[in-house]
Amino acid sequence: MASIEDEALKVIQSRSEGVLQSELWKLLNIDSRKCSRVVRRLADAGLIDRVEYRDEGIKTYRLKARQQAADPSLLLAGDELIPCIGCELDCNVEQCPLLLDWMYELAIAEMSGE
Ligand code: SF4
Repeated sequence: MASIEDEALKVIQSRSEGVLQSELWKLLNIDSRKCSRVVRRLADAGLIDRVEYRDEGIKTYRLKARQQAADPSLLLAGDELIPCIGCELDCNVEQCPLLLDWMYELAIAEMSGE
């Protein structure tokens, strides 16, 4: 995806309430026609939802990012599930031996191409 789409998506994702399309083109410093094309590409890719919105009588769209499913593979180091899932210990991330072991496993798995 071209960088202007990435930039637009980041702006939209950064606001849980969404962004008005009439504001987005100003934030991106592009003209409204180019913004419409960018928004259409993001919507066609299923990355955002467009909901019609009236701003002082003028029709625009509220743009909201769609939730992307988390990639479960990011929770694995080889076959080892990250120990934080279901952990009930008093958490001290910087000194947790369980997490440190898992990170070693992750480094080994990445080096071996798993
Ligand atoms: S960092 Fe350690 S203590 Fe904290 S949640 Fe993860 S496994 Fe549990």
